[in-house]
Amino acid sequence: MTVTDLPRTAWRPADLERAVSEVEAEAARYAEVCDREARFPAEALEAMRRTGLLGLLVPAEDGGPGGGTADLLAVSSRLSRTCMSVGMIFTMHCQQVAAVVRDGGPLRERLLPRIVRGELYLASVTTEAAGGGHLLSSGSQLTAGDDSTVRVDRFAPVVTGGSHADGFLITALAPDATSPSRLSLVYADRDQLTVTVRGGWNPMGMRATHSAPLHLAGEIPRDQVVGEHGAFRDIAVRTFAPLAHLGWAACWQGAADGALQRVVTLLRAERRRHDLDSPLLLARLSRVRQRLDTVHALITHTASVLASAEDTTSPPVQLLVNAVKLTASELCPAAADELTDLMGMRHGYLKDSPTGLERTLRDLRSAPLNYSNDRLHAADGVLALMDREVRHV
Ligand SMILES: Cc1cc2nc3c(=O)[nH]c(=O)nc-3n(C[C@H](O)[C@H](O)[C@H](O)COP(=O)(O)OP(=O)(O)OC[C@H]3O[C@@H](n4cnc5c(N)ncnc54)[C@H](O)[C@@H]3O)c2cc1C
Repeated sequence: MTVTDLPRTAWRPADLERAVSEVEAEAARYAEVCDREARFPAEALEAMRRTGLLGLLVPAEDGGPGGGTADLLAVSSRLSRTCMSVGMIFTMHCQQVAAVVRDGGPLRERLLPRIVRGELYLASVTTEAAGGGHLLSSGSQLTAGDDSTVRVDRFAPVVTGGSHADGFLITALAPDATSPSRLSLVYADRDQLTVTVRGGWNPMGMRATHSAPLHLAGEIPRDQVVGEHGAFRDIAVRTFAPLAHLGWAACWQGAADGALQRVVTLLRAERRRHDLDSPLLLARLSRVRQRLDTVHALITHTASVLASAEDTTSPPVQLLVNAVKLTASELCPAAADELTDLMGMRHGYLKDSPTGLERTLRDLRSAPLNYSNDRLHAADGVLALMDREVRHV
């Protein structure tokens, strides 16, 4: 069957539920071993390919399931309850898909059918060795090949799922760039590149993302660009930052929700061992829940503002989008930390507890680093100065 034969209707809730359950089951089966061995959850990715979940954001008119932001956030959060690495792998791939859908131009018809068929898992290459996480500058440049091609020669220090990706969206200075901020976002197929693994991946948490360093080199057609050459800033502000901040926050909230769910289940199952009337225990549970409800409300509100705002690049909207990332990356680890105090040594700290708190805490510790909160606060300070009237949206 070709993509033109596919039914051009959006998935029904039952289709989505079936696909997510299948991926979730694979994530659960391999979460512990992937964390222990810091290996990529290939089985969960295979299930995303098989079920069509990889194509969630491809519109129905392009043969995809026609999922929207709310679906993306719900799925990212749900998968993260079991394995936050799987949730992140999914949400980061979907950010790349959204960029292709919105600004892919001729790339759309080349890439979207492959994504729908589960043949194209996309990795993200934005971080640089020198500039760290600074999204809007780069030290590597695309150079002119022949008339119709450009050369990529890029070291990428952190690439989630890089060894399993079928294609990459890569930021680099535009071929004609005269300033360090004139970035392009280009697409490169794995087959078009020489991909060399340049190191290992042995982090504290998020171990199953297998975000090892890569060197990417090759020549690609000049028109494999998302948007215009030199216009990455626009894609970053309109697509990457909003979907990254919302998607990551959904994963962090999902991971903390999963921990709370397992703690409450255990407390209720072992009623005799825990004093469920203890004011300290109840206050701690309340604070955890309060934090997670706050994050959930902020995610939901921001998603609805983005869906209806006339100008998503205005300072108040950008501040709100950044507030999602900053707030979720503080409150979700704090919630997991509080659960550790609540449960104590046996079920808060030991690796083999059914609460899984130890892994959740290690995973969530990455949240403030995954695009540095310090950098984001510096950007927000500038935006706050621009919004003289202090307009909340
Ligand atoms: C699990 C995980 C998966 C990831 N996957 C990917 C991926 O697939 N692709 C990808 O491209 N990247 C990925 N990243 C990278 C991520 O997006 C960030 O860019 C990266 O974590 C930042 O690294 P850094 O802390 O070394 O860099 P920096 O952002 O440079 O920060 C280092 C420190 O410098 C300080 N600092 C530096 N400059 C400033 C400034 N101007 N203002 C304030 N403080 C400053 C900050 O305090 C910060 O603590 C991933 C990260 C994680 C944790």
